[in-house]
Amino acid sequence: MKSYEYIIIGAGIAGCSVAHFLSKSSSSVLLIDRNDKVASEASGAAGAFLSPLLGKPNDFKDLVTKSLKFSTNFYKKNFPDSIINNGVLRIPKDDLDKEKFQHYEHDFNFSHKDDGYFFPIGSLVSSSEICLKLSTNVEKLFNFNVKMIQYRSDLWVLNDTLKCKNLILCTGADTQFLPKYIDIRAVWGQRIVCKSSLLLSHNFHKECSISLSLKNTFDNDKKKPYLISIGATHHRITEKKLSCTEDIGQKKSISFVGCNNCETGCIEDTKKLLLLANDIIKLDDLEVVKTYAGARASSIDYFPIVGDIVDETKTLDDFPYLKSGTHVKEERFTRFNNLYILNGVGGRGFVLSPYLASNLVDFILNKQDLPQNIKTDRLFKRWVKK
Ligand SMILES: Cc1cc2nc3c(=O)[nH]c(=O)nc-3n(C[C@H](O)[C@H](O)[C@H](O)COP(=O)(O)OP(=O)(O)OC[C@H]3O[C@@H](n4cnc5c(N)ncnc54)[C@H](O)[C@@H]3O)c2cc1C
Repeated sequence: MKSYEYIIIGAGIAGCSVAHFLSKSSSSVLLIDRNDKVASEASGAAGAFLSPLLGKPNDFKDLVTKSLKFSTNFYKKNFPDSIINNGVLRIPKDDLDKEKFQHYEHDFNFSHKDDGYFFPIGSLVSSSEICLKLSTNVEKLFNFNVKMIQYRSDLWVLNDTLKCKNLILCTGADTQFLPKYIDIRAVWGQRIVCKSSLLLSHNFHKECSISLSLKNTFDNDKKKPYLISIGATHHRITEKKLSCTEDIGQKKSISFVGCNNCETGCIEDTKKLLLLANDIIKLDDLEVVKTYAGARASSIDYFPIVGDIVDETKTLDDFPYLKSGTHVKEERFTRFNNLYILNGVGGRGFVLSPYLASNLVDFILNKQDLPQNIKTDRLFKRWVKK
């Protein structure tokens, strides 16, 4: 059985970011995915817009701001050909929103432009290219569906065929290996790519995002030499309603509730995106050439989930009175040996993942503590209370 120091399950932006930082200190890292290439699920569907979170100050906004600064610099320094940092024009939805915008404390420089606020920090990254480049220096194993993980003789064993000292779960909306207190919810969404004659020089965001114009690599249409990406829709779908997409995770385009058009994505969503985009800018000659769909993995409190993983059974055996509300210090909780997670990056995976992966690797290698609001401890405590 082949053995590694680290195995990462999931080659989306979360897993590829962890692989990148781990590869700087270990040559024994294996990145696994059940698909045949990186970024095959949510990460391949993403428009991969990087944009600031606007609003009143709070811990989540702080985290997004830190991550956006870190990740933008990180992409620009390491993969300058895969990021376009031309800014984003944020347009208020209505008068109320306009009023709010004026009172927000903005964490980034901006200027007033047309009907909105122009933030030079806004960027677009190439999602698959970034994942590919992040994972360049690690060994990869594709078409490998992990069906079982077991901890035996101080090692994690996967499907009885691979073993490792440390296992990192970056499985996105697939929750089969997560303890029941980690409640990840799938928020499905669609993005469309259109060809057009329109030359846009920066991104836009109102109720959806529109990208700047990229070269039309789809065909040779001289009248429509650009590609524009428009995203995204949001559907919190229960498994029951997902009858026509039972193999979630394997399909590249899906149909949402009540639609049978699996090959072209959801027509209703395409129509909605075109309407929302037209409300931002007049887009006369758009022709949809591709749709992408995927499931964002969101935690119940919207914060990501990073670090080691509390073993709920052993912790409750040791401290049964936790159930009646008695306080026990988090450092006394039992954790699974050498098992880690980076998940719950929701709709901001390309903003959050490099920053969080760098923190996670620091935690694994140097025992550098992580903020409470991203650790599994808070989810365990919340679950026990219920
Ligand atoms: C339509 C859409 C638009 C979006 N737009 C943006 C955007 O503009 N900006 C932004 O920052 N984010 C955006 N997002 C969100 C972003 O896509 C996600 O936050 C991010 O991709 C999540 O990355 P991940 O690595 O956690 O999950 P995924 O990319 O889903 O990766 C998880 C991987 O784990 C693998 N896996 C799971 N279980 C197993 C197993 N048992 N064995 C082997 N492999 C397994 C899967 O095959 C998958 O490849 C968008 C999402 C969608 C759906």
